[in-house]
Amino acid sequence: MTTNLTADQATRVFNFSAGPATLPLSVLQQIQDELLTLPDVGASVMEISHRSADFDRIIEDAETRIGQLLNLPETHEVLFLQGGAALQNVMIPANLLVNSDQTADYLITGSWGKKSAAEVHHYGRLNVAFDGSDTGFSRLAADSEQRFSEGGAYCHFTSNETIQGVQYPELPKTNAPLVVDKSSDMFSAPINVSDYGLIYACAQKNVGIAGVTLVIIEKSLLERSGDRLPSYLSYAKHSKGGSRFNTPPTFAIYVTGLVCKWLQEEVGGLQAMADINQRKAAMLYQAIDSSDGFYQGHAAEDCRSVMNVVFKLGTDELDAKFLEEAAAESMKTLKGHRSLGGIRASIYNAMPIEGVEALAQFMQDFANKNG
Ligand code: PMP
Repeated sequence: MTTNLTADQATRVFNFSAGPATLPLSVLQQIQDELLTLPDVGASVMEISHRSADFDRIIEDAETRIGQLLNLPETHEVLFLQGGAALQNVMIPANLLVNSDQTADYLITGSWGKKSAAEVHHYGRLNVAFDGSDTGFSRLAADSEQRFSEGGAYCHFTSNETIQGVQYPELPKTNAPLVVDKSSDMFSAPINVSDYGLIYACAQKNVGIAGVTLVIIEKSLLERSGDRLPSYLSYAKHSKGGSRFNTPPTFAIYVTGLVCKWLQEEVGGLQAMADINQRKAAMLYQAIDSSDGFYQGHAAEDCRSVMNVVFKLGTDELDAKFLEEAAAESMKTLKGHRSLGGIRASIYNAMPIEGVEALAQFMQDFANKNG
């Protein structure tokens, strides 16, 4: 049976969901084409052993592409894990705090960083180096406001706070190994992997679909895992098993490989992706800034997110009207997180520029009619 892809395209909305989020159409099409039978395999990717030569090729391809996209240095390795970013909140202190007297520094610039910090006490001491909750997580810390511990085992931060739309334009300055939650801005721009001890990202925004969590870890940190941990929590054990300590999320890993292929072959790499992302975000922030206060952005200007544009209108009624009329024009899932209200436009890598153009135009028209 062949499906009419043109019809699919015509019925797809511009999906501004914060995650799971929109995927590149060509990735969906390749999944569709290969769903029943992987080329030269004769079975679906969902039906083959995670220890087969066919799956070896799939996981190795995904890993190679990630390495190429990030210029991965020899010092670091890629792991495909499960449990989402939530499990990383546990695995990180479990592995990187060698005993309960060690301290981890956490910079809390939004809801996700707060959740990460909340797990540390199970394994050691938490030092909150900054907590932006008193300003509604609308800004980052000035260097002088950060209170790092002496000899901290690592410093955790969230490069992009998905709910508040606050993103780090540069790295925090500390001597401790940097551990970053890049769940909502992985692959959105080039990074220097050597700057980090550990990078993690749940996949369902920029890396593929829910089910797999990407971890990039400095190999020397694997030694901290030791033998004291339950096996499944140990980075060293997952590394030793080649990300196949147990059955991995095979389908999700396959999709991650396809997303990386799309980034390489259709987008042209992470710098090209970053340029497109900057253009997309600029259109929406321009619509906010030129609205004479009709739209109020949440994030301070120096840390506005390129991935999640968060704003509100003057009243809850106007927010609701905005959402209803946008939906009528096929721009969906723009509602802000329930903790913040307002509007959130998530414009991850796979959101086409046409979607952002349509939204920026809609914002202008809506402000003209209702302002
Ligand atoms: N961190 C960030 C920055 C996120 O955006 C999210 C998901 N929205 C999470 C962590 C949690 O991810 P998961 O649901 O996969 O645990």
